[in-house]
Amino acid sequence: MTCERCHGLMVSERICDPQGMSSDLCVDGYRCLLCGNIVDATILENRRHSTGTIETRTVSDPHMSRLVAA
Ligand SMILES: [Zn+2]
Repeated sequence: MTCERCHGLMVSERICDPQGMSSDLCVDGYRCLLCGNIVDATILENRRHSTGTIETRTVSDPHMSRLVAA
């Protein structure tokens, strides 16, 4: 795993309170050894979900359904 910002080496790490909002929140993520950039599993998961949503919207587009029905 390499850093998106500096392409440095990222190490797997347990990150507690990544956004400073909840003190009990601990997630598994990665931290860049060079610039300190943090990518947590939640961010990666959200990216996967948003990509899937775009694909679903394209398929279920109402204009597409009309074309299929006609
Ligand atoms: Zn970095």
